[in-house]
Amino acid sequence: MKVLVVNCGSSSLKYQLIETTTSAVLAKGLVERIGLGEAEYSFTHGERPKVKVGIQSKNHTEALREVLGKLVSEPYGVLSSLEEIEAIGHRVVHGGESFYHSALITDEVIKAIEANGELAPLHNPPNLQGILACREVLPNKKQVAVFDTAFHQSMPEYSSMYALPYEYYEKYKIRRYGFHGTSHRYVAMKTAEFLGKPLENLHLITCHLGNGSSITAIAGGKSRDTSMGFTPLEGVVMGTRSGSLDPAVLLYIMEKENLTPRHMSDLLNKKSGILGLSGISHDMREIHDAVEKGHSRAKLTLEVLVHSVRKYIGAYMVELGRVDAVVFTAGIGENDWVVREMCMARMENWGFVLDKEKNRTTRGTLAEISTFSSPSKILVVPTNEELMIALETQWVLEEKE
Ligand code: ADP
Repeated sequence: MKVLVVNCGSSSLKYQLIETTTSAVLAKGLVERIGLGEAEYSFTHGERPKVKVGIQSKNHTEALREVLGKLVSEPYGVLSSLEEIEAIGHRVVHGGESFYHSALITDEVIKAIEANGELAPLHNPPNLQGILACREVLPNKKQVAVFDTAFHQSMPEYSSMYALPYEYYEKYKIRRYGFHGTSHRYVAMKTAEFLGKPLENLHLITCHLGNGSSITAIAGGKSRDTSMGFTPLEGVVMGTRSGSLDPAVLLYIMEKENLTPRHMSDLLNKKSGILGLSGISHDMREIHDAVEKGHSRAKLTLEVLVHSVRKYIGAYMVELGRVDAVVFTAGIGENDWVVREMCMARMENWGFVLDKEKNRTTRGTLAEISTFSSPSKILVVPTNEELMIALETQWVLEEKE
């Protein structure tokens, strides 16, 4: 099935056209600066080299029209007609408590996405704009919403609830939701395929370590706990996000520095994490360069990051009781052998024996990096959220037919 996967931000539209039977990406592109003067459109269609052009698009509908035009017209076309697109899959960040699975988009689903907008005010409204743009331009196509949070709806209440006065859950739905669900589900499926075992029989800890990072405990293909919470701020140390900290710290800083909630949110989301602690960059590659040059805060940043990941791995080992594999994915997880080696150090007694050589040479490919005789496996599994969205779209439509 040919599925157009769409991911809309407040001023961007990212897409991939995927043939699900072969997992081939037929075309992909990104329109940025939508509604901010001249928009920038870069795309790679078929085997041709990447193209960058300036376009006029005041809104997501205009941007989408431009994209669809490029998909069918010479010299960049990869389709003879838009009829070939069989469905559209949308990334939607927050499904709240309404969605346990991906959903065929109907008027009711649109209302629910709108209602959940309060929980993700920066993400759900633009995701919805993308859906509405597709409805307007391609009114006959079936559309599916794939939620970042849906996979984690299987978390038991004891992992999803905060110990706050219960009324805040009742009034504002404050609880842990988790994110990156599409990625965790995808790498869990791939892991089961690789190990040649049914996902239903596996206990996994999946570590999505990128700019944003989260760790998930998966039992029998279902999320049992995950490190991100009410927002993507909770959990491990990330590129620019602090991850979990004593909540009293932020009250203290707000008082001392006379900060508004908005400033504090900026500090925690954009100025903290690897960037804030190192004072160098949010990018792990630059942290490693600095460590090699003897930069002590870069070394400390690496250690704090790894420590935060290890704490979750340890907690989830206890929660799951038995772990068949720890899986690393996303930018850092797939490429950074140093972080992986540090995360899995001194775990032999827990059944994880890293093959240091295999770990050093594995970069961006699916591979087992534990020794042959290691009782539990350590794997690198590249994520592919767009492919997962395309597959979920296909599955939803097949179920409905
Ligand atoms: P996003 O969360 O934006 O999707 P990615 O999963 O692409 O992010 O991860 C991006 C991060 O991955 C970069 O900021 C960088 O820290 C890290 N990264 C990418 N390549 C490498 C590498 N070769 N070595 C170490 N870190 C890397």
